[in-house]
Amino acid sequence: MKIFDEIESEVQCYARSFPRVFNKAKGEFLYDEEGNQYLDFLAGAGTLNYGHNHPVFKEKLLDYILSDGITHGLDMHTKAKGEFLETFNEKILKPRDLDYVVQFTGPTGTNAVEAALKLARNVTGRENIISFTNGFHGVSIGALATTGNSHHRGAAGVSLNGSSRMPYDGYLGDGIDTTAYLDKVLSDSSSGIDKPAAVIVESVQGEGGINVASFEWLRNLEKVCRKHDVLLIVDDIQAGCGRTGSYFSFEPSGIKPDMVTLSKSLGGYGLPFAVVLFRPELDQWKPGEHNGTFRGNNFAFITAKAAIDHYWSDDEFAKDICRKGEYVSKRLESIIGKYGEHNFTTRGRGLFQGINCVDGELAGRITAEAFKKGLIIETSGADDQVIKLLCPLIISQENLEKGIDILEEAVRTICAKEGSFAEEKDFFETKKAS
Ligand SMILES: *Cc1c(COP(=O)(O)O)cnc(C)c1O
Repeated sequence: MKIFDEIESEVQCYARSFPRVFNKAKGEFLYDEEGNQYLDFLAGAGTLNYGHNHPVFKEKLLDYILSDGITHGLDMHTKAKGEFLETFNEKILKPRDLDYVVQFTGPTGTNAVEAALKLARNVTGRENIISFTNGFHGVSIGALATTGNSHHRGAAGVSLNGSSRMPYDGYLGDGIDTTAYLDKVLSDSSSGIDKPAAVIVESVQGEGGINVASFEWLRNLEKVCRKHDVLLIVDDIQAGCGRTGSYFSFEPSGIKPDMVTLSKSLGGYGLPFAVVLFRPELDQWKPGEHNGTFRGNNFAFITAKAAIDHYWSDDEFAKDICRKGEYVSKRLESIIGKYGEHNFTTRGRGLFQGINCVDGELAGRITAEAFKKGLIIETSGADDQVIKLLCPLIISQENLEKGIDILEEAVRTICAKEGSFAEEKDFFETKKAS
Protein backbone atom coordinates (compact mmCIF):
# COMPACT_ATOMS: atom_id res chain seq x y z
CA MET A 1 0.00 0.00 0.00
CA LYS A 2 1.42 3.34 -1.14
CA ILE A 3 0.16 5.35 1.83
CA PHE A 4 2.80 3.84 4.15
CA ASP A 5 5.62 5.08 1.91
CA GLU A 6 3.88 8.39 1.43
CA ILE A 7 3.20 9.54 4.98
CA GLU A 8 4.35 7.03 7.58
CA SER A 9 7.64 7.94 9.23
CA GLU A 10 10.88 6.18 8.38
CA VAL A 11 11.05 5.13 12.03
CA GLN A 12 9.00 2.02 11.28
CA CYS A 13 10.89 -1.16 12.01
CA TYR A 14 9.02 -4.48 12.15
CA ALA A 15 7.09 -3.37 9.07
CA ARG A 16 10.36 -3.60 7.13
CA SER A 17 10.94 -7.22 8.11
CA PHE A 18 7.37 -8.22 7.28
CA PRO A 19 6.29 -6.02 4.37
CA ARG A 20 2.65 -7.06 4.05
CA VAL A 21 -0.63 -5.46 5.02
CA PHE A 22 -2.13 -7.58 7.78
CA ASN A 23 -5.83 -7.48 8.47
CA LYS A 24 -6.79 -10.45 10.59
CA ALA A 25 -5.42 -12.50 13.44
CA LYS A 26 -6.50 -15.44 15.51
CA GLY A 27 -4.59 -17.38 18.16
CA GLU A 28 -1.10 -18.06 16.82
CA PHE A 29 -1.94 -16.92 13.28
CA LEU A 30 -1.78 -13.64 11.39
CA TYR A 31 -3.35 -13.11 7.96
CA ASP A 32 -2.50 -10.56 5.29
CA GLU A 33 -4.85 -8.85 2.87
CA GLU A 34 -4.28 -11.51 0.23
CA GLY A 35 -5.43 -14.13 2.68
CA ASN A 36 -1.96 -15.60 3.30
CA GLN A 37 -1.59 -17.24 6.68
CA TYR A 38 1.46 -16.75 8.91
CA LEU A 39 2.44 -18.44 12.15
CA ASP A 40 3.25 -15.66 14.58
CA PHE A 41 6.49 -16.37 16.45
CA LEU A 42 6.93 -12.69 17.25
CA ALA A 43 3.65 -12.29 19.12
CA GLY A 44 3.88 -8.55 19.56
CA ALA A 45 7.41 -8.90 20.95
CA GLY A 46 5.97 -10.81 23.88
CA THR A 47 2.69 -8.92 24.18
CA LEU A 48 0.52 -11.75 22.88
CA ASN A 49 1.40 -14.56 25.26
CA TYR A 50 -2.25 -15.66 25.07
CA GLY A 51 -2.40 -15.28 21.29
CA HIS A 52 -4.43 -12.92 19.13
CA ASN A 53 -8.08 -12.22 19.94
CA HIS A 54 -8.52 -14.88 22.59
CA PRO A 55 -12.20 -15.89 22.39
CA VAL A 56 -12.81 -15.90 26.16
CA PHE A 57 -11.22 -12.49 26.72
CA LYS A 58 -12.96 -11.12 23.64
CA GLU A 59 -16.37 -12.10 24.94
CA LYS A 60 -15.69 -10.45 28.32
CA LEU A 61 -14.50 -7.31 26.56
CA LEU A 62 -17.49 -7.20 24.20
CA ASP A 63 -19.93 -7.65 27.09
CA TYR A 64 -18.21 -4.85 28.95
CA ILE A 65 -18.34 -2.49 25.96
CA LEU A 66 -21.97 -3.34 25.17
CA SER A 67 -22.98 -2.65 28.77
CA ASP A 68 -21.41 0.86 28.55
CA GLY A 69 -18.67 -0.01 31.02
CA ILE A 70 -16.15 2.78 31.71
CA THR A 71 -13.53 3.09 28.96
CA HIS A 72 -11.35 5.85 30.35
CA GLY A 73 -11.24 6.72 34.01
CA LEU A 74 -7.96 8.54 34.78
CA ASP A 75 -7.00 6.95 38.11
CA MET A 76 -10.51 6.91 39.51
CA HIS A 77 -11.84 3.80 41.21
CA THR A 78 -13.82 1.75 38.74
CA LYS A 79 -15.43 -1.64 39.18
CA ALA A 80 -13.20 -3.06 36.44
CA LYS A 81 -10.06 -1.82 38.17
CA GLY A 82 -11.20 -3.12 41.55
CA GLU A 83 -11.91 -6.55 40.13
CA PHE A 84 -8.56 -6.67 38.38
CA LEU A 85 -6.79 -5.78 41.65
CA GLU A 86 -8.71 -8.43 43.58
CA THR A 87 -7.89 -11.13 41.05
CA PHE A 88 -4.25 -10.09 40.75
CA ASN A 89 -3.88 -10.11 44.53
CA GLU A 90 -5.66 -13.43 45.10
CA LYS A 91 -4.30 -15.43 42.17
CA ILE A 92 -0.88 -13.92 41.47
CA LEU A 93 0.55 -12.13 44.51
CA LYS A 94 -0.77 -14.05 47.52
CA PRO A 95 -0.01 -17.61 46.32
CA ARG A 96 3.57 -16.45 45.69
CA ASP A 97 3.81 -14.80 49.07
CA LEU A 98 4.52 -11.43 47.46
CA ASP A 99 3.43 -8.42 49.46
CA TYR A 100 3.33 -5.61 46.91
CA VAL A 101 1.29 -2.50 46.28
CA VAL A 102 0.32 -1.80 42.69
CA GLN A 103 1.00 1.48 40.92
CA PHE A 104 -0.82 2.04 37.65
CA THR A 105 1.38 4.03 35.30
CA GLY A 106 0.96 5.18 31.73
CA PRO A 107 0.24 2.12 29.60
CA THR A 108 3.63 1.32 28.09
CA GLY A 109 6.59 -0.55 29.50
CA THR A 110 8.85 2.46 29.51
CA ASN A 111 6.23 4.36 31.58
CA ALA A 112 6.46 1.68 34.27
CA VAL A 113 10.27 1.75 34.22
CA GLU A 114 10.31 5.55 34.56
CA ALA A 115 7.99 5.35 37.56
CA ALA A 116 10.10 2.63 39.22
CA LEU A 117 13.36 4.55 38.74
CA LYS A 118 11.83 7.79 39.97
CA LEU A 119 10.39 6.16 43.09
CA ALA A 120 13.68 4.38 43.86
CA ARG A 121 15.53 7.70 43.59
CA ASN A 122 13.02 9.55 45.73
CA VAL A 123 12.93 6.92 48.46
CA THR A 124 16.70 6.55 48.75
CA GLY A 125 17.72 10.11 47.94
CA ARG A 126 20.35 8.73 45.55
CA GLU A 127 20.58 9.25 41.82
CA ASN A 128 22.63 6.42 40.38
CA ILE A 129 20.97 3.29 39.00
CA ILE A 130 22.99 0.16 38.26
CA SER A 131 21.97 -1.40 34.94
CA PHE A 132 23.50 -4.21 32.92
CA THR A 133 25.25 -4.72 29.61
CA ASN A 134 22.75 -5.55 26.85
CA GLY A 135 19.83 -4.59 29.08
CA PHE A 136 16.71 -3.08 27.51
CA HIS A 137 14.29 -1.03 29.56
CA GLY A 138 12.60 1.26 27.06
CA VAL A 139 13.43 4.39 25.07
CA SER A 140 12.10 7.38 27.04
CA ILE A 141 15.06 9.31 28.45
CA GLY A 142 15.16 7.93 32.01
CA ALA A 143 14.66 4.34 30.91
CA LEU A 144 16.98 4.81 27.93
CA ALA A 145 19.82 5.74 30.28
CA THR A 146 19.57 2.16 31.61
CA THR A 147 19.25 0.60 28.13
CA GLY A 148 22.49 -0.65 26.59
CA ASN A 149 21.74 -0.64 22.87
CA SER A 150 23.80 2.03 21.05
CA HIS A 151 21.30 2.39 18.17
CA HIS A 152 18.61 3.44 20.65
CA ARG A 153 20.95 5.45 22.87
CA GLY A 154 22.30 7.33 19.88
CA ALA A 155 18.87 8.80 19.15
CA ALA A 156 18.52 10.39 22.61
CA GLY A 157 19.88 13.80 21.63
CA VAL A 158 20.83 14.53 25.24
CA SER A 159 23.39 12.91 27.48
CA LEU A 160 22.01 9.90 29.25
CA ASN A 161 22.87 10.32 32.90
CA GLY A 162 22.20 8.61 36.15
CA SER A 163 23.16 5.03 35.40
CA SER A 164 26.31 2.92 35.75
CA ARG A 165 26.64 -0.23 33.64
CA MET A 166 27.78 -3.54 35.12
CA PRO A 167 28.52 -6.82 33.31
CA TYR A 168 25.47 -9.12 33.13
CA ASP A 169 25.70 -12.81 33.99
CA GLY A 170 27.97 -14.53 31.46
CA TYR A 171 29.28 -11.28 29.98
CA LEU A 172 32.86 -12.03 30.98
CA GLY A 173 32.61 -15.71 30.12
CA ASP A 174 31.52 -18.81 32.00
CA GLY A 175 32.70 -19.22 35.54
CA ILE A 176 32.99 -15.51 36.29
CA ASP A 177 30.38 -14.30 38.75
CA THR A 178 29.97 -10.65 37.81
CA THR A 179 28.05 -9.90 41.01
CA ALA A 180 31.41 -10.19 42.80
CA TYR A 181 32.56 -7.18 40.77
CA LEU A 182 29.42 -5.26 41.69
CA ASP A 183 30.00 -6.12 45.36
CA LYS A 184 33.60 -4.92 45.06
CA VAL A 185 32.82 -1.55 43.49
CA LEU A 186 30.02 -0.90 45.98
CA SER A 187 32.39 -1.75 48.85
CA ASP A 188 35.16 0.54 47.60
CA SER A 189 34.53 4.23 48.26
CA SER A 190 37.06 5.05 45.53
CA SER A 191 35.66 2.75 42.84
CA GLY A 192 34.15 5.76 41.07
CA ILE A 193 30.69 4.19 41.06
CA ASP A 194 28.30 6.38 43.05
CA LYS A 195 26.26 4.52 45.62
CA PRO A 196 23.10 3.60 43.69
CA ALA A 197 19.44 3.91 44.55
CA ALA A 198 18.68 0.65 42.77
CA VAL A 199 19.78 -2.09 40.45
CA ILE A 200 17.51 -2.78 37.46
CA VAL A 201 17.74 -6.17 35.80
CA GLU A 202 15.95 -8.54 33.43
CA SER A 203 16.21 -12.16 34.54
CA VAL A 204 16.24 -13.09 30.84
CA GLN A 205 17.30 -10.26 28.54
CA GLY A 206 14.86 -10.14 25.62
CA GLU A 207 16.00 -7.37 23.27
CA GLY A 208 19.60 -7.96 24.34
CA GLY A 209 19.62 -11.41 22.73
CA ILE A 210 17.95 -13.85 25.15
CA ASN A 211 20.74 -13.79 27.70
CA VAL A 212 19.71 -15.86 30.69
CA ALA A 213 20.83 -15.03 34.22
CA SER A 214 21.36 -18.14 36.32
CA PHE A 215 19.26 -18.50 39.45
CA GLU A 216 22.44 -18.46 41.51
CA TRP A 217 23.54 -15.20 39.91
CA LEU A 218 20.13 -13.66 40.67
CA ARG A 219 20.40 -14.80 44.29
CA ASN A 220 23.89 -13.35 44.53
CA LEU A 221 22.66 -10.11 43.00
CA GLU A 222 19.92 -9.93 45.61
CA LYS A 223 22.52 -10.54 48.37
CA VAL A 224 24.74 -7.74 47.08
CA CYS A 225 21.73 -5.40 46.96
CA ARG A 226 20.75 -6.27 50.54
CA LYS A 227 24.33 -5.96 51.78
CA HIS A 228 24.67 -2.46 50.36
CA ASP A 229 21.12 -1.33 51.06
CA VAL A 230 20.31 -0.91 47.37
CA LEU A 231 16.85 -1.60 45.92
CA LEU A 232 16.42 -4.47 43.47
CA ILE A 233 14.12 -3.83 40.52
CA VAL A 234 13.26 -6.72 38.20
CA ASP A 235 12.03 -5.55 34.81
CA ASP A 236 9.67 -8.40 33.95
CA ILE A 237 8.00 -6.62 31.08
CA GLN A 238 9.00 -9.20 28.47
CA ALA A 239 10.06 -12.21 30.58
CA GLY A 240 7.04 -12.04 32.89
CA CYS A 241 3.40 -13.13 32.46
CA GLY A 242 4.42 -16.76 31.98
CA ARG A 243 6.99 -16.45 29.19
CA THR A 244 9.72 -18.37 31.01
CA GLY A 245 7.37 -20.94 32.58
CA SER A 246 6.27 -19.17 35.77
CA TYR A 247 4.17 -16.03 36.15
CA PHE A 248 7.17 -13.97 37.25
CA SER A 249 10.44 -14.93 35.62
CA PHE A 250 12.32 -14.75 38.92
CA GLU A 251 10.11 -17.19 40.85
CA PRO A 252 12.29 -20.30 40.51
CA SER A 253 15.31 -18.35 41.81
CA GLY A 254 13.50 -17.59 45.06
CA ILE A 255 14.48 -13.90 45.07
CA LYS A 256 12.05 -11.20 46.22
CA PRO A 257 12.66 -7.99 44.29
CA ASP A 258 11.78 -4.69 45.96
CA MET A 259 10.07 -3.60 42.77
CA VAL A 260 8.81 -5.31 39.63
CA THR A 261 7.69 -3.76 36.36
CA LEU A 262 5.08 -5.50 34.19
CA SER A 263 3.51 -4.58 30.85
CA LYS A 264 3.43 -6.27 27.40
CA SER A 265 1.28 -9.40 28.07
CA LEU A 266 -0.23 -8.08 31.30
CA GLY A 267 -3.32 -6.77 29.49
CA GLY A 268 -3.79 -10.24 27.99
CA TYR A 269 -5.42 -9.15 24.76
CA GLY A 270 -2.68 -6.90 23.42
CA LEU A 271 -4.24 -3.86 25.08
CA PRO A 272 -1.78 -1.32 26.54
CA PHE A 273 -1.32 -1.73 30.27
CA ALA A 274 1.61 -1.35 32.68
CA VAL A 275 2.16 -1.47 36.42
CA VAL A 276 4.94 -1.18 38.96
CA LEU A 277 4.76 -3.44 41.98
CA PHE A 278 6.70 -2.54 45.14
CA ARG A 279 7.00 -3.24 48.84
CA PRO A 280 4.44 -1.19 50.82
CA GLU A 281 7.20 0.63 52.77
CA LEU A 282 8.47 2.07 49.50
CA ASP A 283 5.11 3.64 48.73
CA GLN A 284 6.22 7.15 49.58
CA TRP A 285 4.53 8.88 46.68
CA LYS A 286 2.55 12.00 47.47
CA PRO A 287 -0.88 12.11 45.81
CA GLY A 288 -0.56 12.94 42.12
CA GLU A 289 3.22 13.34 42.30
CA HIS A 290 3.57 11.02 39.33
CA ASN A 291 0.68 10.73 36.90
CA GLY A 292 -0.38 10.00 33.31
CA THR A 293 -3.67 10.40 31.49
CA PHE A 294 -3.95 6.78 30.41
CA ARG A 295 -3.38 5.03 33.72
CA GLY A 296 -6.89 3.71 33.67
CA ASN A 297 -7.25 1.58 30.55
CA ASN A 298 -10.36 -0.20 31.78
CA PHE A 299 -10.60 -2.44 28.69
CA ALA A 300 -7.21 -3.80 29.66
CA PHE A 301 -8.37 -4.35 33.27
CA ILE A 302 -11.18 -6.54 31.91
CA THR A 303 -8.94 -8.65 29.67
CA ALA A 304 -6.08 -8.79 32.19
CA LYS A 305 -8.46 -10.20 34.78
CA ALA A 306 -9.88 -12.65 32.25
CA ALA A 307 -6.36 -13.86 31.41
CA ILE A 308 -5.48 -14.47 35.05
CA ASP A 309 -8.78 -16.22 35.78
CA HIS A 310 -8.46 -18.40 32.71
CA TYR A 311 -4.79 -19.36 32.89
CA TRP A 312 -3.44 -18.69 36.37
CA SER A 313 -6.08 -20.16 38.67
CA ASP A 314 -3.96 -23.32 38.95
CA ASP A 315 -0.53 -24.45 37.75
CA GLU A 316 -1.61 -26.38 34.62
CA PHE A 317 -0.70 -23.54 32.26
CA ALA A 318 2.76 -23.09 33.80
CA LYS A 319 3.40 -26.83 33.41
CA ASP A 320 2.27 -26.70 29.81
CA ILE A 321 4.68 -23.83 29.07
CA CYS A 322 7.57 -25.79 30.63
CA ARG A 323 6.67 -28.90 28.64
CA LYS A 324 6.57 -26.92 25.39
CA GLY A 325 9.80 -25.22 26.39
CA GLU A 326 11.53 -28.58 26.72
CA TYR A 327 10.28 -29.54 23.28
CA VAL A 328 11.65 -26.29 21.82
CA SER A 329 15.05 -26.87 23.50
CA LYS A 330 15.30 -30.34 22.00
CA ARG A 331 14.40 -29.15 18.53
CA LEU A 332 16.79 -26.20 18.63
CA GLU A 333 19.63 -28.40 19.89
CA SER A 334 18.98 -30.77 17.02
CA ILE A 335 18.95 -27.94 14.46
CA ILE A 336 22.24 -26.41 15.61
CA GLY A 337 23.78 -29.90 15.78
CA LYS A 338 23.28 -30.25 12.03
CA TYR A 339 25.14 -27.02 11.27
CA GLY A 340 28.09 -27.36 13.62
CA GLU A 341 30.40 -25.49 11.25
CA HIS A 342 28.50 -22.24 11.96
CA ASN A 343 29.06 -22.40 15.74
CA PHE A 344 25.37 -21.73 16.43
CA THR A 345 24.30 -22.02 20.07
CA THR A 346 20.90 -22.16 21.75
CA ARG A 347 19.79 -20.03 24.65
CA GLY A 348 16.76 -19.26 26.78
CA ARG A 349 14.29 -20.59 29.29
CA GLY A 350 10.65 -21.76 28.97
CA LEU A 351 9.13 -20.39 25.78
CA PHE A 352 11.74 -17.62 25.70
CA GLN A 353 14.40 -19.26 23.55
CA GLY A 354 16.55 -18.58 20.57
CA ILE A 355 19.41 -19.54 18.33
CA ASN A 356 22.54 -17.44 18.45
CA CYS A 357 23.73 -17.39 14.84
CA VAL A 358 26.83 -15.35 15.84
CA ASP A 359 26.46 -13.47 12.53
CA GLY A 360 23.59 -10.95 12.40
CA GLU A 361 23.50 -10.92 8.62
CA LEU A 362 23.06 -14.69 8.53
CA ALA A 363 20.35 -14.58 11.22
CA GLY A 364 18.52 -11.94 9.18
CA ARG A 365 18.65 -14.05 6.03
CA ILE A 366 17.25 -17.04 7.94
CA THR A 367 14.32 -15.07 9.39
CA ALA A 368 13.60 -13.52 5.95
CA GLU A 369 13.54 -17.02 4.45
CA ALA A 370 11.24 -18.22 7.25
CA PHE A 371 8.87 -15.36 6.46
CA LYS A 372 8.72 -16.48 2.81
CA LYS A 373 7.61 -19.87 4.13
CA GLY A 374 4.90 -18.40 6.38
CA LEU A 375 6.62 -17.83 9.72
CA ILE A 376 6.90 -14.43 11.40
CA ILE A 377 10.01 -14.46 13.55
CA GLU A 378 12.52 -11.76 14.54
CA THR A 379 16.09 -11.36 15.69
CA SER A 380 17.50 -9.59 18.72
CA GLY A 381 20.88 -8.92 20.31
CA ALA A 382 23.60 -6.31 19.78
CA ASP A 383 24.11 -7.38 16.14
CA ASP A 384 20.63 -8.88 15.66
CA GLN A 385 22.43 -12.21 15.72
CA VAL A 386 19.91 -14.13 17.84
CA ILE A 387 16.77 -15.63 16.28
CA LYS A 388 14.15 -15.15 18.94
CA LEU A 389 11.27 -17.65 19.28
CA LEU A 390 8.41 -15.84 20.98
CA CYS A 391 5.37 -17.86 19.95
CA PRO A 392 2.15 -17.35 21.90
CA LEU A 393 2.25 -19.56 25.01
CA ILE A 394 -1.16 -20.99 24.10
CA ILE A 395 0.10 -22.36 20.76
CA SER A 396 -0.99 -25.91 19.94
CA GLN A 397 1.71 -28.59 19.92
CA GLU A 398 0.97 -29.14 16.23
CA ASN A 399 1.58 -25.52 15.29
CA LEU A 400 4.63 -25.29 17.53
CA GLU A 401 6.09 -28.20 15.59
CA LYS A 402 5.05 -26.63 12.31
CA GLY A 403 6.70 -23.30 13.18
CA ILE A 404 9.96 -24.94 14.16
CA ASP A 405 9.83 -27.12 11.03
CA ILE A 406 9.64 -23.92 8.96
CA LEU A 407 12.53 -22.41 10.90
CA GLU A 408 14.57 -25.57 10.37
CA GLU A 409 13.84 -25.50 6.64
CA ALA A 410 14.89 -21.86 6.49
CA VAL A 411 18.16 -22.65 8.29
CA ARG A 412 18.75 -25.52 5.85
CA THR A 413 18.04 -23.38 2.78
CA ILE A 414 20.27 -20.50 3.89
CA CYS A 415 23.10 -22.61 5.29
CA ALA A 416 23.11 -24.86 2.20
CA LYS A 417 23.47 -21.73 0.04
CA GLU A 418 26.27 -20.54 2.32
CA GLY A 419 27.94 -23.95 1.94
CA SER A 420 27.75 -23.84 -1.86
CA PHE A 421 29.09 -20.24 -1.90
CA ALA A 422 32.00 -21.38 0.25
CA GLU A 423 32.62 -24.39 -1.98
CA GLU A 424 32.55 -22.22 -5.11
CA LYS A 425 34.95 -19.77 -3.49
CA ASP A 426 37.30 -22.61 -2.52
CA PHE A 427 37.09 -23.98 -6.05
CA PHE A 428 38.03 -20.67 -7.66
CA GLU A 429 40.75 -19.96 -5.15
CA THR A 430 42.27 -23.39 -5.68
CA LYS A 431 42.02 -22.81 -9.41
CA LYS A 432 43.74 -19.41 -9.14
CA ALA A 433 46.52 -20.91 -7.05
CA SER A 434 47.22 -23.76 -9.46
C1 LIG B 1 9.56 -3.91 25.70
C2 LIG B 1 10.31 -3.68 26.95
C3 LIG B 1 10.31 -2.44 27.61
C4 LIG B 1 9.64 -1.22 27.03
O1 LIG B 1 8.29 -1.37 26.82
P1 LIG B 1 7.54 -0.35 25.84
O2 LIG B 1 6.10 -0.70 25.98
O3 LIG B 1 8.07 -0.61 24.47
O4 LIG B 1 7.85 1.02 26.31
C5 LIG B 1 10.98 -2.34 28.81
N1 LIG B 1 11.63 -3.38 29.34
C6 LIG B 1 11.65 -4.59 28.74
C7 LIG B 1 12.37 -5.72 29.39
C8 LIG B 1 11.02 -4.77 27.51
O5 LIG B 1 11.09 -5.94 26.88
